[in-house]
Amino acid sequence: MGTRHRTTLVAGAGGFIGGHLVAGLLRDGRTAVRAVDIRPPGEWQQRFQDAESLQLDLRDPDACHRAADGVDDVYNLAADMGGVGYLTSNQARAMLSVLINANLLRAARKRRVHRYWYASSACVYPTDRQTSAAVSPLREDDALPALPDGGYGWEKLFGEQMCQAFTTEMGLPTRIARLHNVYGPWSTYRGGREKAPAAICRKIAEAELSGRHEIEIWGDGEQTRSFMYIEDCITGIERIMDSDVARPLNLGSSELVTINELVDLVEEAAGIKVLRRYDASAPVGVRGRNSDNTLIRAHLHWEPSTPLREGITRTYEWVRDCLVRER
Ligand code: NAD
Repeated sequence: MGTRHRTTLVAGAGGFIGGHLVAGLLRDGRTAVRAVDIRPPGEWQQRFQDAESLQLDLRDPDACHRAADGVDDVYNLAADMGGVGYLTSNQARAMLSVLINANLLRAARKRRVHRYWYASSACVYPTDRQTSAAVSPLREDDALPALPDGGYGWEKLFGEQMCQAFTTEMGLPTRIARLHNVYGPWSTYRGGREKAPAAICRKIAEAELSGRHEIEIWGDGEQTRSFMYIEDCITGIERIMDSDVARPLNLGSSELVTINELVDLVEEAAGIKVLRRYDASAPVGVRGRNSDNTLIRAHLHWEPSTPLREGITRTYEWVRDCLVRER
């Protein structure tokens, strides 16, 4: 382990991606890590002996100053978010995450941090470009003029604009990644905030373990998405942070699948076939969405590449193990 001259703040460290980022930074050993979340450390998805772990509500300016005190770099992954089920009926709550980014930016600027990284989302893209399952991949320039996906998308778009204004007018270096559907071990897989890959893994693992081979799918299953494995996501976050690219970059897989194809892969991982019942009244989000990776390839000479089949196999095993332990 190298000497730790730096300190890095990970906001939202108790969550899925934040937890993996803390683990990655600690493994790397080049920085001390301050991990912050609104939930008590005992409830975090992953827990860390080697990080300073703090419970703070980052909507509060004082909490942001406490969190940013003495840090060199800030990663903002704290947000009130969940899958399409949660975001469809909690738009006001999602929009209140604007307070986290606003107050953290102010604290970061005051402390003159080296760099500030912001977790944006593919939900910033105009919904009228995503009305067909055979979607054209979304390019960074497509975000404006704006028609983002619900309160969550508006909040992320505003968050991006705010980061960029802090850079141009106040000299705070910022980096922005537009994350497209991330999945993998340690994601939320039940309780209402889970996203499609973990939800489908859970449903099929329950079917496998109970012997009742039937699951419910939201919509007709022909909606399309791309899904990025968490290891690619963490690599991408760090590469974007270390780059000199100040404009928002897509960080997502470009392997487009229908939800039915995703279910096929989970069935394969489980070694069972299930009867699929389709719920047409459930929230499904946009019809089709994919990431155009031209820009990230050009700037970073890299893009997410873990095949969905491989990532889903690992995720399925993790979710299934969790269910077995719960029994
Ligand atoms: P997550 O819900 O697992 O993690 C977010 C964490 O933020 C949670 O642990 C939560 O407790 C914490 N948090 C919420 N409000 C807070 C507050 N006021 N103060 C401090 N902490 C607070 O979500 P995730 O999947 O790890 O996502 C991380 C970031 O990436 C979020 O900004 C999210 O919007 C963005 N993102 C995620 C995806 C994805 O597919 N998971 C896609 C696009 C963007």
